[in-house]
Amino acid sequence: MQNVDITVVGAGSAGLTLALLLAPLGLSIVVLEHGNAPHSDNINHQRVSALNPASMRLLSHTGAWPAIAATAQSYSRMQVWDADSFANIEFDAANERLEQLGWICDNEQIRVALYRQLQQHKNVRLEFNCSINSLVQSERDVLININQQQLLLSRLLVGADGVNSLVRSSMQLPLTHWDYEQQAIVATITTQLPHNKTARQVFLPTGPLALLPLPDSQQCSIVWSCNPERAAELLAMPAEQFNQALTAASNSVLGVLQLHTQPKAFGLKMRYASSWLRGRVVLVADAAHSIHPLAGQGMNLGLMDVAALAELITQAVEDGNDFSETRLLRRYERWRKAEAQTLIVAMEAFKRGFSNKQPMFKLVRAVGMSSINQAPWFKSKIIAAALGNSGDLPKLAQPETKVTRRG
Ligand SMILES: Cc1cc2nc3c(=O)[nH]c(=O)nc-3n(C[C@H](O)[C@H](O)[C@H](O)COP(=O)(O)OP(=O)(O)OC[C@H]3O[C@@H](n4cnc5c(N)ncnc54)[C@H](O)[C@@H]3O)c2cc1C
Repeated sequence: MQNVDITVVGAGSAGLTLALLLAPLGLSIVVLEHGNAPHSDNINHQRVSALNPASMRLLSHTGAWPAIAATAQSYSRMQVWDADSFANIEFDAANERLEQLGWICDNEQIRVALYRQLQQHKNVRLEFNCSINSLVQSERDVLININQQQLLLSRLLVGADGVNSLVRSSMQLPLTHWDYEQQAIVATITTQLPHNKTARQVFLPTGPLALLPLPDSQQCSIVWSCNPERAAELLAMPAEQFNQALTAASNSVLGVLQLHTQPKAFGLKMRYASSWLRGRVVLVADAAHSIHPLAGQGMNLGLMDVAALAELITQAVEDGNDFSETRLLRRYERWRKAEAQTLIVAMEAFKRGFSNKQPMFKLVRAVGMSSINQAPWFKSKIIAAALGNSGDLPKLAQPETKVTRRG
């Protein structure tokens, strides 16, 4: 049997970032992952995430950002329009006195960069291809049975094991969920016209289509959300026909679009654990909540969770207090639940607002969007949220790190 301070289950962006933020404390940390170690060959941008400046600041603090940025594409403009009306809205980094609004990052390269940084810390051990057989909690520890042979006794266990979290189900943490009744088709495409570092999203009656700029000026990653019937139809099409449908759906904004990689579909569900902790076990990121990708905020939200948890644990260790006590974990839960709930409600409003086909509603939507586009104050509020600069940000993600302590 081995004793450790902190066990993190899941080596996705959230689990690896958390381990890296906690590593300097000198605690013994184990990261358990049932998949393979991240690998850097073949950067095909099959799965990407739009990261905002708040996430960039956090990842810069971990030392992983330069390697992530090296394979990412920054974007300085965002264009959003409604396919069904005259409504459109544009955001420009220059108006915010910024160089960029965000970065389109390859998910696997984020993991690779974090993993490389973690390998420099001797107090962090990463175990890949391992399966957790059981989790048993006592008053002081959590007992983890790995691969039917290894026992680990941990003071704190963090579930960063994604949407189908085993930690969440083992601890019987209740989950609220609903189906968005949409699938997201993702693929890399080539574009006839250069993307000009602009992220684009069109709201179609069947769901949003995003064109996210990649490092090649004539390549984008698409996230095309539509109902399951339409998704099945699109996936069954020969490439030529898919390309025509995609070009038409994009209003030919980048000319003729062509598939570069095989499209893949992901079912979209809202998930929200109504309790994020039990004793010394706590959930972060997608294990605690998952939202519609239409605003590109899921990973950003998860990274802020781990920044918040790391901040509270760091403060407790520095003060000589118990970093795994329920009071601390409850503070984390209260802090981050508020942010997650705000985004869940916002995504639902967006999705419902743009799928309503009634003529009157469409008119109100079009007038509303166009009015926002003409209202700098309101636009600034929206952009602050998209940049990750609104809400109660963890210290390491704040624009200028303030030396404040959470009471
Ligand atoms: C189509 C789509 C587009 C998206 N676009 C964006 C975007 O533009 N911007 C954005 O911010 N977010 C986006 N997201 C959301 C983002 O991808 C997720 O929020 C983020 O990847 C979640 O990270 P995570 O570390 O919590 O979970 P994951 O990345 O799922 O990592 C969980 C890890 O845990 C491991 N694991 C699972 N079970 C076990 C187990 N029992 N034992 C050990 N290990 C286990 C898994 O193998 C995995 O490595 C998008 C999501 C989708 C579906």
